[in-house]
Amino acid sequence: MKKQTFKFTSASVDYYFNASIKQLKEIVDPTHAIIITDENINALHATKFKGFKTIVIPAGEKHKNQVTIDGIINQLIALQTDRKSTLIGIGGGVITDMTGYVASIYMRGIAFGFVPTTLLAMVDASIGGKNGIDVGIYKNMIGIIRQPKFLLYDVSLLKTLPQADWSNGFAEIIKHACIKDAPMFKLLKENTLAKFQKNKELLAKLVERNAKLKTKVVQQDEFEQGDRKLLNYGHTLGHALENQYELYHGQAVAIGMVYAGIISKQLLKFKQADAVVEVLAKYGLPTQMDFDKTKAIEVLKMDKKREKSTINYILLEKIGKGVIKQLPLTEIEQIIQSF
Ligand code: NAD
Ligand code: ZN
Repeated sequence: MKKQTFKFTSASVDYYFNASIKQLKEIVDPTHAIIITDENINALHATKFKGFKTIVIPAGEKHKNQVTIDGIINQLIALQTDRKSTLIGIGGGVITDMTGYVASIYMRGIAFGFVPTTLLAMVDASIGGKNGIDVGIYKNMIGIIRQPKFLLYDVSLLKTLPQADWSNGFAEIIKHACIKDAPMFKLLKENTLAKFQKNKELLAKLVERNAKLKTKVVQQDEFEQGDRKLLNYGHTLGHALENQYELYHGQAVAIGMVYAGIISKQLLKFKQADAVVEVLAKYGLPTQMDFDKTKAIEVLKMDKKREKSTINYILLEKIGKGVIKQLPLTEIEQIIQSF
């Protein structure tokens, strides 16, 4: 199996692109590893990781909390998991976030690796070492930055992924293209969601390109002092909408990207706001939404990224060139209210 190693400030991580989940045994010894997965993935894919001890947890964001972590810890103890064991998170971002977190606190930290099974986890959540859980309504309130030992990519696992989760993943892919990769934006424009779903090779290449793009951003700024903030493109307003409305993360980020495009047009003479809208629509994402703008701005004002009366907003100078701007909240408010 071909391995590529990427160095972060804190550790090195082995990436296995174009791999099969059945090759997991070549990376970790099943007698010293425990798989953590959710009930959906277990029902669909368990035969591919038989031979490993497995902890199965309920699926969904509402279980990304301390109660589930306590349950996992009890099972780890019952399975006599020791310091030499490796935890393997097989699943979407909920599973990778929780596996990384529990592995980082169990016995003061043991090794972990991921097999991401959603497009979002492949291109985003599994990369960068942010692990954690929610506390009540507060997302990712508790956690740690700690890198996995390995990431195994098997895009054939995506065959069973629901349609909404495909679009969710593409929201982050479009985000990457907007902030850092103009040629990829062109590729997305020239192709379709259906084409990526049908063509495994094309999909594997896209996943690898995005995983490497996020890796590079994190390598330069593992602890989010600067450039890593670019990954928040579309997320500032996106999070405000996600808190208020029943939206998928990707849908909220898509609306966030549309508005970031409008703000970029007004403040930085960004010329391709319409092209962003067109590509989002192409990948099944919403580009228009009636929302309570006053309320959304209230939430923005409480956002953790706020610095006094200004806010760090990610804008585009052009496709492929995201910039971090510290803007007065009043200016953002005016522009958002006028649309
Ligand atoms: P998820 O893990 O809840 O997965 C979505 C759904 O798809 C679940 O119901 C899951 O059971 C199901 N599923 C997973 N793989 C499947 C497959 N192959 N076939 C069929 N069904 C499958 O959610 P997600 O969208 O993958 O991730 C969202 C989470 O990721 C959030 O908690 C978010 O905070 C986190 N996240 C973390 C980072 C980070 O840097 N750590 C970045 C982005 C997102
Ligand atoms: Zn996101």
